[in-house]
Amino acid sequence: MTAENVLRALDAVSAGRAEDAVLSVRDLSVRFRLRGGRTVEAVSDADFDLGAGECLALVGESGCGKSVLASALLGLLPGNAETSGTALLADPDGAAQTDLIAADEKTLARTVRGRRVGLVPQSPAAHLTPVRTVRSQLEETVRALTGTSRRARRKAAEDAAERAAFPAGHLDRYPHELSGGLAQRAATALALIGDARLLLADEPTTGLDRDLVDRTVDELRRHADDGRALLLITHDLAAAARIADRVAVMYAGRIVEIAPAHRFFGPAGPRHPYARGLLDALPDRAFTPIPGMPPELSALPEGCAFAPRCPLATELCSNRPEFTANLACHHPEHPRA
Ligand code: SF4
Repeated sequence: MTAENVLRALDAVSAGRAEDAVLSVRDLSVRFRLRGGRTVEAVSDADFDLGAGECLALVGESGCGKSVLASALLGLLPGNAETSGTALLADPDGAAQTDLIAADEKTLARTVRGRRVGLVPQSPAAHLTPVRTVRSQLEETVRALTGTSRRARRKAAEDAAERAAFPAGHLDRYPHELSGGLAQRAATALALIGDARLLLADEPTTGLDRDLVDRTVDELRRHADDGRALLLITHDLAAAARIADRVAVMYAGRIVEIAPAHRFFGPAGPRHPYARGLLDALPDRAFTPIPGMPPELSALPEGCAFAPRCPLATELCSNRPEFTANLACHHPEHPRA
């Protein structure tokens, strides 16, 4: 068996998670209709599964559609968005699935957001209400989710704080009295309080120093290790390398490669030229930026959107490559030795 075939087989094993997936996304597309008839193809044909205990890192440059994808999963897109495809969320008892894309607002608000899907937000300080203590915000969330007694709410709030490593002695503080790290933990506690099986962490390390980034993502990893599925949306490849099991690379609204993290960050490397470029741009690697800029999502070229920046582009690339075997490229790179 050639090295390439071995990698393909390993990728297939790694991707064979559909049956026990907590989240199964198929052909998910999001388009925004703008004034004047313009359209923005923010997400095109996203396909991936995410299993319990797994962390999938969705990486790519800012504006590539990662956060739009997360908003689509939570039903939080603006009114001018058009969606297609499916995102099946498994039921805790395994009996039924909810299609997050087809579900109405009432279903999402009452049974999904906070209960079955927890969001770890990008700016925890902005996510917390400034005039209420952390304890009161946690208890209010428990009340909204479960309607339990005051005593039970207090215990549930303290349990969630403990799971998020938020110190009990700080529960009666206001958000402005917390450090960045503690605010992040308070927001994580809010995301965990409904005991959601799926956690969406949307750029959870923005604005944090490296030490705090490491601590934050390690804590998120711990929640995945407790049996939750974690979708980590980030442009921070070091954070992804630290905790992800698999990496999905997004470019111009499309997922162009999904690879096991050990291969992606290891000696073999990714196979899509854009994914290689992202890694080669890191200061601790070749420190060579990818030439050019990503295309506007409102003016995507025909064919492969990466072609104007790709060193391997040929005439064939004027046809859009299909996403097959976890890769969308006509001339994927060979694994590095
Ligand atoms: S399809 Fe062609 S242009 Fe696009 S990434 Fe692959 S080689 Fe490059």
